[in-house]
Amino acid sequence: MANDPIYLDNQATTPLAPEVFDTMVPWLRDNFGNPHSAHLLGRKAAAAVEVARDQVSGLLPDGGKLFFAGSATEAINLGFGAVHAQKAAGRNKIIVLDSEHAAVRDTASSFAEHGFTIERHPVGPDGLVSLEQLSDAIDDKTALVAAMLVNNEIGVIQPVEAIAGLAHDKGALMLCDVVQGYGRVIIPDSIDLAAISAHKIYGPKGIGALWVREGIDLPPMIHGGGQEKGIRSGTLSPALCAGFGRAAALCLERSDDDAAHIQALADKARSCFANWIFNGAMDQRYLGNLNIRRDGVDVARLMSDVRGVAFSAGSACASGSGRPSHVLAALGLESAQIKSSIRLGFGRYNSLEDIEIASQYINEAAEAQFA
Ligand code: PLP
Repeated sequence: MANDPIYLDNQATTPLAPEVFDTMVPWLRDNFGNPHSAHLLGRKAAAAVEVARDQVSGLLPDGGKLFFAGSATEAINLGFGAVHAQKAAGRNKIIVLDSEHAAVRDTASSFAEHGFTIERHPVGPDGLVSLEQLSDAIDDKTALVAAMLVNNEIGVIQPVEAIAGLAHDKGALMLCDVVQGYGRVIIPDSIDLAAISAHKIYGPKGIGALWVREGIDLPPMIHGGGQEKGIRSGTLSPALCAGFGRAAALCLERSDDDAAHIQALADKARSCFANWIFNGAMDQRYLGNLNIRRDGVDVARLMSDVRGVAFSAGSACASGSGRPSHVLAALGLESAQIKSSIRLGFGRYNSLEDIEIASQYINEAAEAQFA
């Protein structure tokens, strides 16, 4: 709408695609059947859920099962359940990268009370893990290694295929938070568990999913009516499932166009913010994320001055909490550098003009702080 800010926070969430909205409406308005009912209305809803499951699975490796959940956070919690079978085989160590999302870090930490040792593994100043160091850390007591594909704060892409290889060499499982990569970059084949979220791919909020390689044992996380093969009970929403499915199918149909568009936006942004310093690796990254800093700029003040642009200071999850970004800290940045960093996230519905106008607002407000 006319007076809305320019939206450059596509890592926090994405707008709902119009095609997704149109797909969801009949499931909200007309087709109200419970997908777990045996009658015709129920069977119609169940069929829509299964179409959606196929569409969402179409962007994931072959040889796995997909369980719908309420969010990626829930899916990650569900996926960590795989460590219980590993513990029975004498494995009690969980390794997570230091730059993981709180959904992975905090879920891992909660397993300390089940007798697991949790190791936070460092990343380098570019945000990437050293495979040599990681290889030394994984041993025959390791139950699971968690590493994300695309980082939500700085956009760097971890060498997930190689990380999974290191985990498998020692008999450990590999859980990958692919939330920011799904629908944008290819998901590596060798992972064992993957969590995704619809609202990061122009789909609705309130639905995520866990993909699990065939043969991996998961205990139920939510008990009740036995839905989702008894792993995650509760009535599914056909509207949310159908919306997720359509959003995934759109990502597939539009993958070349979306990638070319993001490349053009990123090129423009790099030239508009040439006097800022980039946080994280420049080459191994998803281009729709730009995390930059300008020494001496107070980002809290910048954000209150620049009302015409919706952007983020560090991660959307950490901002507002008063905590400095743990990801930027993991790169070795000092507190002042973290406080002068901003995250801009470009998406399908941004224009080159958005970047031009937003950069003018941001650069002018930053300059004003030095006047
Ligand atoms: N993992 C990453 C990398 C994310 O960016 C997010 C959302 O910010 C999540 C997990 C959690 O996703 P959800 O909002 O679906 O719980």
